[in-house]
Amino acid sequence: MTTTRFAPSPTGRLHVGNLRPALLNWLHARKQGGTFILRIDDTDAERSKEEHVEAIKRDLDWLGLGWDRFERQSERLARYDAAADALRAEGRLYPAYETATELDLRRKYQRQAGRPPVYDRAALKLTDEDRAKLEAEGRRPHWRFRLDQERVTWTDGIRGETTVDCASVSDPVLIREDGGYLYTLCSVCDDMDFGVTDVIRGEDHVTNTATQVQIFDALGDKPTGFAHHSLLVDAEGASLSKRLGSLTLESIREAGIEPLALLSYMARLGSADPIEPRASHAELIDGFDLARFGRAPARFSMDDLGALNLKALHGKPYGDVAERLHDAGVPDDRAEPFWLLIRENIAGLDDIPDWAAILKGDCTPAIDPEDAEYVTLALAELEAARPWTGETWRTVTADLKERTGRKGKALFMPLRKALTGRGDGPDMAALLPLLCR
Ligand code: GLU
Repeated sequence: MTTTRFAPSPTGRLHVGNLRPALLNWLHARKQGGTFILRIDDTDAERSKEEHVEAIKRDLDWLGLGWDRFERQSERLARYDAAADALRAEGRLYPAYETATELDLRRKYQRQAGRPPVYDRAALKLTDEDRAKLEAEGRRPHWRFRLDQERVTWTDGIRGETTVDCASVSDPVLIREDGGYLYTLCSVCDDMDFGVTDVIRGEDHVTNTATQVQIFDALGDKPTGFAHHSLLVDAEGASLSKRLGSLTLESIREAGIEPLALLSYMARLGSADPIEPRASHAELIDGFDLARFGRAPARFSMDDLGALNLKALHGKPYGDVAERLHDAGVPDDRAEPFWLLIRENIAGLDDIPDWAAILKGDCTPAIDPEDAEYVTLALAELEAARPWTGETWRTVTADLKERTGRKGKALFMPLRKALTGRGDGPDMAALLPLLCR
């Protein structure tokens, strides 16, 4: 059975870049009738914050991306200790003592000499005596996984046959100097223990995948399937990585983007399928196929997302907003025609209360002094023309035209502003009979 997971580190708020793996893993699991796990990668105690965990859940809830199982790495340290011991016993995990500054310097020399900046495994040559001496100096080791320097190949769910030559990859650090685990090892243990079948993540993890395939192997298990999606770029094709911090799901929510619009956009971005507003999660799942995604970078544009949001809003059926209209005080007997009338005039669902107020008469008329007399006359005519129907506006304004000689904008606008308090909005002929006063 298919099992996927979304594994964010709670070191900040989720942004559109994180949404990509979250959504693809969720869709893949749902499409296959499988299990979707939310896993919190919080072994970095210093940078992980509980408020971010809560925000991650809130964001996924908002989007309707429910999870079937919740796990957090900080609760599984004993499991990682056991895995580390097993790797040590096999000679695959070795202590190294270089400081970050030393490593930096070494990489610089390597580059200057035209060599790839790969860790030179100096620590493997240390004798027991050397290590004892270093530790006596107060140095604490970090632990590296000894890679087999060979090519690792897998059939990637998006990239197809993918090969990484581990001879040009540094032995990855799995345990930090302070004893903290890096997600690289923990993730393999979790994926093994939780029966994860498919790992879908960004292509910035391709090298990690090669090392993790070797870790699976060293721990005696078969690796999961892997699929690496391309990363987001902006409309000009430039990397978005530096700007992702400002493209949080929270800020997108506050900008009035609807969850389904965001999902419709992100679920097809970077795939061969067209981006269209979808009316439900079921529709999104239905049309989803991981094989339709390609290696080309996915162009993310807030303008495109905004346009899709509007398109979705303007076609939104009454049933989707009935409750909101009710909550905004729109009488149920006229809520449906009211919605069908205003939906193309609003920029977001947050505009509903304003239009509900106009409907209920809770708005301040806007009357220019030079129009006061005309408006008084017009309102008297409208009063006399009750009950208002779909014809009232036309007959009353035709009559007013004759009586005052006004026409066009001068005829209609003062009346629109008097009745609604604003100069824009839906067809007055249709709105008039819906007004509550
Ligand atoms: N916590 C890791 C990250 O956010 C998970 C990567 C993975 O999906 O394996 O980069």
